[in-house]
Amino acid sequence: MRVRLNTNESPTPPPVAWQHAVAAELSRLDWHRYPDRSATSLRAAIADLHHVDPAQVFAGNGSNEVLQTLLLTYAGPGRTVATFEPTYQLHGHIARLTGATVAEGGRREDFTLDLAEVQRVCGSADPIITFLCSPNNPTGLVEPETNLGAVQDAAPGLVVVDEAYAQFSDWSAIGLVDDDTPLVVTRTFSKTWSMAGARLGYLIGPSWVVAEMEKVTLPYHLDAAKQIAGRLALGFVDDMEARVGHIVAERERIQEAFGHLPVDFWRSGANFVLFRPRTVAGAHVWKALLDYSVLVRDCSGWPRLENCLRVTVGTTEENEVFLRALEEILS
Ligand code: PMP
Repeated sequence: MRVRLNTNESPTPPPVAWQHAVAAELSRLDWHRYPDRSATSLRAAIADLHHVDPAQVFAGNGSNEVLQTLLLTYAGPGRTVATFEPTYQLHGHIARLTGATVAEGGRREDFTLDLAEVQRVCGSADPIITFLCSPNNPTGLVEPETNLGAVQDAAPGLVVVDEAYAQFSDWSAIGLVDDDTPLVVTRTFSKTWSMAGARLGYLIGPSWVVAEMEKVTLPYHLDAAKQIAGRLALGFVDDMEARVGHIVAERERIQEAFGHLPVDFWRSGANFVLFRPRTVAGAHVWKALLDYSVLVRDCSGWPRLENCLRVTVGTTEENEVFLRALEEILS
């Protein structure tokens, strides 16, 4: 496959200077020793980036593992976790794996959050964890701050905001985190930091939540190489922001092009766009794109996403190949 636009990775690698810095530190690593169990330097660097205390940072092997640890800590049999669908499927999936019940609320027809539904679900199901995802995967919609406030008012337990794509949007909930508020925010190195291969993610939350999660984590779960890779990446914020700026500009260009094609789409604040061809079945378009060596995500079989496809924003060249192929398929 020439153009892979199906898993929301960064289309470009991290800076060469970062690769050299990682190689240099790895050459000095004591491979026969266990890594720093508390990931002290990495957590300090993440805390610095977000102006929080290192005790408010939990790091894991990808934000999926962070979510899993959170759910192992607080969910489980006899407990309920709330999601508002459609949203990131792993929230409900991992919650069920822990034995918890998932109370699935529905979003509105346009996939925005229905606050009456939030109140109904939180009031009736008494969730220990209530999930939001902003920007939401797979819709790309950014949750307005007022919605988060309303969810915090309604939720009886911990509110989790999954911000895997937050740097592509103009708002983050991290500034609202403090030790007196049952709110946590999860982030990943997989997208904006171009490090999906490293499997590194983290959570910013009250220090008492981090302390509880540490009780559940396996000893030495974060290997030494990953701790180095993550810490060094944070020295390249400007490069990351330049990549993000380029992807955001390309996303706007794709959406502009969609405006001239027979497709409906949802305005995205992420590095992907959800769209629905109007004239040809989504699954057919997905297959036809393969003939052009373009792979996107087929969401057409997912609940409420009939005929929908999701395309990751790639390089300018990749996006051109995708848009030209789509235009021909739909003409
Ligand atoms: N949250 C959301 C909303 C995602 O889309 C993804 C990646 N698909 C993740 C979390 C997991 O990311 P990772 O485990 O690579 O950090």
